[in-house]
Amino acid sequence: MEVRVASAQNALEHLGLGMQGLMQGKRGLIMGVANDHSIAWGIARTLASQGATLAFTYQGEALGKRVRPLAESLGADLLMTCDVEDIASVDKVFTTIGEKWGGLDFLVHAVAFSDKNELKGRYADTSRANFVRTMLISCFSFTEAAKRAAALMTNGGAMVTLTYNGGTRAMPNYNAMGLAKAALEASVRYLAVDFGGHAIRVNAISAGPIRTLAGAGISDARFMFAYQQRHSPLHRGVTLDELGGAALYLLSDLSTGVTGEIHFVDSGYNAIAMPQPEALRVSATGNGNGNGNINNEESAKDAAQ
Ligand code: NAD
Repeated sequence: MEVRVASAQNALEHLGLGMQGLMQGKRGLIMGVANDHSIAWGIARTLASQGATLAFTYQGEALGKRVRPLAESLGADLLMTCDVEDIASVDKVFTTIGEKWGGLDFLVHAVAFSDKNELKGRYADTSRANFVRTMLISCFSFTEAAKRAAALMTNGGAMVTLTYNGGTRAMPNYNAMGLAKAALEASVRYLAVDFGGHAIRVNAISAGPIRTLAGAGISDARFMFAYQQRHSPLHRGVTLDELGGAALYLLSDLSTGVTGEIHFVDSGYNAIAMPQPEALRVSATGNGNGNGNINNEESAKDAAQ
């Protein structure tokens, strides 16, 4: 696991950010690590490589078995179970942090859920039960955690949640999750206003598609992911280290003037209106190669990488 921390450090140095200790003396809670593919894990290891002290939550004992060794590899000894549908477990997390640390400097919220059976087909067919559950877990849990975290941020602080472009544009199969992300992004702006007077900043990272447990729940995800990666201005997907670097910026003193922001880390995909004409030509004829080849077989190959 030390190798992972080193690799995050190397990545920062590679990016020309050979700085050490940007998070030295800062203590933060990471919510949403399921395994070593989780975006929350990419963020956690980057923050740890810059000196942060971390606490983790995990959802249930099955995931706890995976999260524990990861947390320990970063020297974290504060590891708590938390299901955001159970508000008592959320309360317990922040009470424990208050007792053990007496304060908090940052919060990472990387929690989302929607019924897999409704991450396909039409949004119009969303059930009431899944809509409410998706909104609670993927949106309102951030507000509930942020309120409790802010009460511990007596010297100011910073929070980051994770969103996706499907919150601002209609994305196939994303359905109720798209509405939850839209509301989550709005809550970032409202919470930024609520807490700004206490020098607490609230921002979101809008991540490009990345292969995780949650990402795999979306029907035909691999084709959609490959399409976005191929047609983004950078012609590629994003890495956990790149998401970690963006979180480091938003949670450290590098970004003290930034709040209420939705920061895209998606190889620029959100900036384009449509693929380049060459790719459209190839798509229409079914022929081509290089960046223009977007037939499904190629896309699937990309997505599997
Ligand atoms: P992931 O599966 O690794 O993480 C999702 C986490 O949500 C898991 O740790 C899971 O335990 C947690 N969770 C779900 N329901 C919960 C509950 N009731 N209580 C507590 N925790 C619960 O997947 P990920 O892709 O790393 O997802 C992290 C965040 O990033 C999510 O908000 C997701 O929407 C967002 N995101 C992901 C992508 C992508 O392509 N993977 C793109 C943009 C944004």
